[in-house]
Amino acid sequence: MSWVKDYVRTIPDYPKAGILFRDVTTIFESDVAYPKMINEFVDYYKDKGIDKVAGIEARGFILGGAIAHMLGIGFITIRKAGKLPHLTHKEDYELEYGTDALEIHIDAIEEGENILIVDDLIATGGTAVAALKLINKAGGKVSEACFIIDLPELGGTDKLKSKNCNVYTLAEYEGL
Ligand code: AMP
Repeated sequence: MSWVKDYVRTIPDYPKAGILFRDVTTIFESDVAYPKMINEFVDYYKDKGIDKVAGIEARGFILGGAIAHMLGIGFITIRKAGKLPHLTHKEDYELEYGTDALEIHIDAIEEGENILIVDDLIATGGTAVAALKLINKAGGKVSEACFIIDLPELGGTDKLKSKNCNVYTLAEYEGL
């Protein structure tokens, strides 16, 4: 079992009945687990030719900023619609009920740059695929994505792999 699971707090029925919410704030709060986790991602990506890290709001910022810093490369913010001040590309994606949208600044990426997507957890993959499409619209390519947690039964990792994006995660949980 991954050491990471010792630090993940599971909250049943949040934000609604039937969901097991995997709370990673308990990793971020630990002066042991947070740097150890960042070092694992950095060791994995240090020789993979990543040009920039793209973090998905908001927990992806906490992870991705630290990874980018350690790799010595720039960081791109992928934010909820309406938050970025400059011109943006926008991508709508499906939630269980309704849709949401993410945005990226149109000039965040130089043509052909290799971008690493970072978020805390992958479930259906809707969020990560929207981020991948935004990066492509802005001229970047995505060969790698990483998450602390994978919920493999929800199919997100397979969805990314089918788009030629390699996925690296530290812990898996069964079910929702
Ligand atoms: P998805 O788009 O279905 O892959 O969902 C991924 C996004 O929703 C991530 O930004 C997660 O933070 C959040 N998320 C989805 N399911 C959970 C869960 N069981 N526990 C914590 N966060 C979740």
